[in-house]
Amino acid sequence: MKKKVVVIGSGPGGAATAALLRKKGHAVTLIESQPFTGGRCASFSKGGFTYDFGVHMFSRGNSGPHGEVNRMLEGGLRWKTHEPAARVMGKVEFDFPLDIRSFLTQVKVAMKLNVKPSCYLGAFRLFRALLKGESIERHDGTTVETFVDSYTDDDRIHLFINCLCQLYFALSYKESSAGEFMWCFSRMFNEASFGYPFGASKAIPDSFLERFEQAGGILKINEKVTRIEIEKGEVRGVRTEKGFYPAEVVVSSAGALPTILLSGKEHFPETYTTSIEQKKGSNAYITLKYALDKKVVPYPTVFYMPNLPGRDVFQYIEDKTVPDDVYIFMPVPSNQDPSLAPPGTQLVIAGTAAPRFASAELCNAILDKIHQKVCDLFPDFSKAILWEIRSSRKETSDLTGLDNGSCIGLGQTPDQSGRFHLNSETPVAGLYLVGADAGSRGIGTELAVGSALNLVRRL
Ligand SMILES: Cc1cc2nc3c(=O)[nH]c(=O)nc-3n(C[C@H](O)[C@H](O)[C@H](O)COP(=O)(O)OP(=O)(O)OC[C@H]3O[C@@H](n4cnc5c(N)ncnc54)[C@H](O)[C@@H]3O)c2cc1C
Repeated sequence: MKKKVVVIGSGPGGAATAALLRKKGHAVTLIESQPFTGGRCASFSKGGFTYDFGVHMFSRGNSGPHGEVNRMLEGGLRWKTHEPAARVMGKVEFDFPLDIRSFLTQVKVAMKLNVKPSCYLGAFRLFRALLKGESIERHDGTTVETFVDSYTDDDRIHLFINCLCQLYFALSYKESSAGEFMWCFSRMFNEASFGYPFGASKAIPDSFLERFEQAGGILKINEKVTRIEIEKGEVRGVRTEKGFYPAEVVVSSAGALPTILLSGKEHFPETYTTSIEQKKGSNAYITLKYALDKKVVPYPTVFYMPNLPGRDVFQYIEDKTVPDDVYIFMPVPSNQDPSLAPPGTQLVIAGTAAPRFASAELCNAILDKIHQKVCDLFPDFSKAILWEIRSSRKETSDLTGLDNGSCIGLGQTPDQSGRFHLNSETPVAGLYLVGADAGSRGIGTELAVGSALNLVRRL
């Protein structure tokens, strides 16, 4: 039976849900509070450059849920993948391959990472276990640190995996779930898929929304949902600043806690609201977007591993201080899609993790550290800057309405991910959660779009 549906939010999760439900024939209205679409995956333009709201690269572009939704919608989303995928920089420097399935490549990676020869065996066994991705559910409740410890105590391996966790989940490996990490690692490296969409990060939600509107879906932007109306345990529709939208089904990608607050806590069992209130978000990510007047960085992505002990490289997040050396994730979007910058110029985005609730002063001090490091790594960099934009924790908070500034959504910790992740179903009939907070596994947008696929299959 065809239903009247309202979807809240136009990030990757909401956009995919709306387009897939419309394709199934439901009457769907998507309501977005911002004047732009895309949520945390939005992109903007300035002086001929197209830069992302965040600092984005994508796991399993065409082979994961993004590609699956695109094929279901017969959309136009296209991906660029580089091999080698990234330049590792820091105490060691080398090109990191995306295809690490052969034993010989794993030997080379271990040597380049400067793993102690006495720890090679443990390192290979660890790579093999991560690539095989077996018994994932059994490892959901374990931290990645504990999991790595069961194979090796080599500091370089601990540093590498800890930085990779911060890249995947915006969490240190002390906080990340081993099952979730294994799920993501095995898929990304077995499919050798890590890339960037043509048209910048916004191309993901926008390509879904394009098909949605072409199919007759209604998109309202710049219109905030102020209330989800519920009567006798059933959803009735949503209220915005401009009016009431009756609906039999409301799918919210506004986040788990904001959805409860929009609905009114009184409609949920106390145990449900309390469990959601107690959940922890991922860390924030803070970024520097640079427009350069020439091409300075020759790599698709830079992965800078700080010269700090592997286990404690993210201690600064716990301590809410500035790190002595800073982990940097630095995609170069115009090296993926040259149309994102005027000819002869370059767009570079550098980011790192910052504590939840970080102050503007702390974010700025960490961003200063990134800027200094990037200029040291690439001597021509500072002279080539046309403009730069700094984004702190607050920009993400303004978008999500959550002061923690979580860049992914709920943290993929041992007690919150995999089999312990929130379900899309809520105790209210007709009200569902979608997006990074509920119903799937994966990295960032992969998680959000996977959640949409899972929900639409169940509805
Ligand atoms: C700095 C940064 C770096 C990141 N790096 C990566 C990366 O490299 N790879 C990756 O895959 N992911 C990355 N992510 C994470 C990824 O962008 C998010 O996990 C993903 O966008 C979540 O999608 P979503 O649909 O669940 O939510 P969102 O994208 O947050 O979309 C939710 C939407 O709901 C809207 N909304 C909220 N409340 C209301 C309301 N009351 N009424 C109407 N609309 C409302 C919001 O405005 C927003 O547009 C990064 C994020 C950030 C911020």
